[in-house]
Amino acid sequence: MSNGENTAPLLAAHGLVRTYGRTEALRGASVELHAGEILTVTGASGSGKSTLLHCLAGIVRPDAGSVTYGGRRLDRLPEDRLSELRRTDFGLVFQFGQLIPELTVLDNVALPLMLAGTSRAEAHAGAGEWLERFGVCGQAGLRPGELSGGQAQRASLARALVTGPKVVFADEPTGALDSLASEQVMTALVHTARECGAAVLLVTHDAQVAAYADREVRLADGAVSPLEVTA
Ligand code: ADP
Ligand code: MG
Repeated sequence: MSNGENTAPLLAAHGLVRTYGRTEALRGASVELHAGEILTVTGASGSGKSTLLHCLAGIVRPDAGSVTYGGRRLDRLPEDRLSELRRTDFGLVFQFGQLIPELTVLDNVALPLMLAGTSRAEAHAGAGEWLERFGVCGQAGLRPGELSGGQAQRASLARALVTGPKVVFADEPTGALDSLASEQVMTALVHTARECGAAVLLVTHDAQVAAYADREVRLADGAVSPLEVTA
């Protein structure tokens, strides 16, 4: 696993443009993420952070520009190949967790494994290990609505990491948490990513959260501002 600056990036966006009606969410944004690197994307609300993350994760197609993953054009892949890639190589964590409310916490975390063809018993075993690691195995049988915000986000981290992704995308994962819960989630995310060698693209407007990263890029009006800060 290498995160050296002189190796080819694992994931790269160049000159991304994306408009919604008259709103130019992205106007030529470029960013590179190396294997194993933890990168934060900061910027004011509305600066295009989520749109950039969604383009990099293959959820939103840019109008112009390119996204390459492992040297291949991700923005040109057909939808079925994209969803397959998202299942195998990417993990996603959102601000409000977005666990499925009808499923138990254990089933939520087991789901990505079952979608990848793992048997139910094996998926449950794998999911249980991740819940234990994040200190929420006592909540395995509960529904997401019965968890605290911090527990739900740690369960969401377990769901994002259970398949062993190469890239974890986290969009303001601590945006709805108090500072203690926020720190627990960030520590869990950063430590685990380092242990597993996963790269992390972390969107946040919290400077304390940004301090966990290897590197930070700042978005302003849909483009990466020249003030690139290296930690
Ligand atoms: P951030 O995550 O930094 O707050 P976003 O990427 O969500 O910024 O949004 C950038 C701009 O694009 C905003 O003006 C937002 O309203 C607009 N936008 C984002 N997604 C959509 C969408 N699906 N439909 C319409 N406008 C959108
Ligand atoms: Mg956003």
